[in-house]
Amino acid sequence: MNYHKYHSVDVVNGPGTRCTLFVSGCEHQCKGCYNQSTQRLDSGHPFPEALADRIIEDLSDSRIPRRGLTLSGGDPLHPANVEDVLALVTRVHTECPDKDIWCWTGYRLDELTPHQQQLLPYLDVLVDGRFEQELADPSLRYRGSSNQVVHRLSERAKASVPRIND
Ligand code: SF4
Repeated sequence: MNYHKYHSVDVVNGPGTRCTLFVSGCEHQCKGCYNQSTQRLDSGHPFPEALADRIIEDLSDSRIPRRGLTLSGGDPLHPANVEDVLALVTRVHTECPDKDIWCWTGYRLDELTPHQQQLLPYLDVLVDGRFEQELADPSLRYRGSSNQVVHRLSERAKASVPRIND
């Protein structure tokens, strides 16, 4: 897997203070894509194990408490990314169990393959669906267009994240 950017302290992509990873590779080609440079799978840089270690360290850093990890892109659920994202979320789930994981994808929840569905038990929230320019609305919370859905997957997300449109 390649990635574009890693923000160790991020207050924009999801609730609270977070670590955010933008992976490379997206096959949706949405009109008006806000992150076109991340669409190619071979764009960005190879994702090293050392960065996975860094993410765990940052999530565990008590000096700047993080609420959790955000996965964006690109598309973390691109079939070519699933194995590496699965390895990362498994580590976060095991080594930082109190941190939540939010993931943005262009696939709809109901069209995920069994391969992609392997990630779901590790995600607290999945924001799904292509970006539809005709439905774009900057006032939407956590979404770029109104067709996208904020799915609260985990029990703790259902308890702590206000219902938006799941
Ligand atoms: S899903 Fe996101 S990154 Fe992929 S083309 Fe659409 S807007 Fe761009």
